[in-house]
Amino acid sequence: MTRTRRRPFGVMLLAVLFLMSLFSTTAFASGVEVVPEEEPAFSEEPVQPSETDVEIEVIPEAEIEHTEHSFNAVSWSSLNTVEHEVYLLCSVCGALETVTEGHELAFSDWIAVSDTEHQREKGCICGFISYETALHHDDDGDFFCDDCGYQLVQRFSVTIPAYLPIAVSETGVVATAANAQIINNSAGTVMVTDIWISGENGWSVVPYSKNMASEKVDSKQIGLMLNNAATELIGGDNTAVLSLTDYEWIIAPDSSLPLTYDAVVSANSYPIEGETVLTLYFVVGWAPK
Ligand SMILES: [Zn+2]
Ligand SMILES: [Zn+2]
Ligand SMILES: [Zn+2]
Repeated sequence: MTRTRRRPFGVMLLAVLFLMSLFSTTAFASGVEVVPEEEPAFSEEPVQPSETDVEIEVIPEAEIEHTEHSFNAVSWSSLNTVEHEVYLLCSVCGALETVTEGHELAFSDWIAVSDTEHQREKGCICGFISYETALHHDDDGDFFCDDCGYQLVQRFSVTIPAYLPIAVSETGVVATAANAQIINNSAGTVMVTDIWISGENGWSVVPYSKNMASEKVDSKQIGLMLNNAATELIGGDNTAVLSLTDYEWIIAPDSSLPLTYDAVVSANSYPIEGETVLTLYFVVGWAPK
């Protein structure tokens, strides 16, 4: 009987011990943090593809873009009179680079700044600005600057003889100066456009064609021929306007127009010396184109 009693006891004790051991094992396990070893996501081992495998190369997307940046110039900074710095921004990855290059100059129109010079602006996108100054020039000779249109102030300088001496001998022979000339010192071609002649000191202008042989002595008449333009019609104010032929009165720059002249003079009973008998008025201007 005792055995039978003990057996259950023994069994119970074993069962309790078993339970206890289970309990303690559980308690032990819960008291330690055990981090499970993580499995590698992929094998480091190179995989040798067989000949039948299709090899697919997978490269992260970002690296494709970086192999060639897509740069756009975003700003410029002038460095000096010839160069600027360009800031380049990659529109894909945001990379920034700077490069140095020469200015790309755009020119403004020429603007006159004086009677002799014009100026234009040279500007670059970087903000660099400089000015170029040059002389006006007039290759087509229209007195306007070919570049800026400025009306050029031409130096007009024409010298006309102060006197055209006339000497008359006792026998009525007239002598004139051989070296009379109109000198054009201007930069452009000039032309004598008008000449008129007035009698002075009691002298009357008469037609050059007048026959003086029949005129009274001391009647103080004079007719003039100047480069084939002669006194013809005489106005009431004792003035003759010469009829000029244009091409004969054009004078190129830095050259001169010789003046040949002759006079018909009425006879005098006394010698005349140093007397102004005529006044000649010359109108000279730029020659037409
Ligand atoms: Zn990039
Ligand atoms: Zn620049
Ligand atoms: Zn100009």
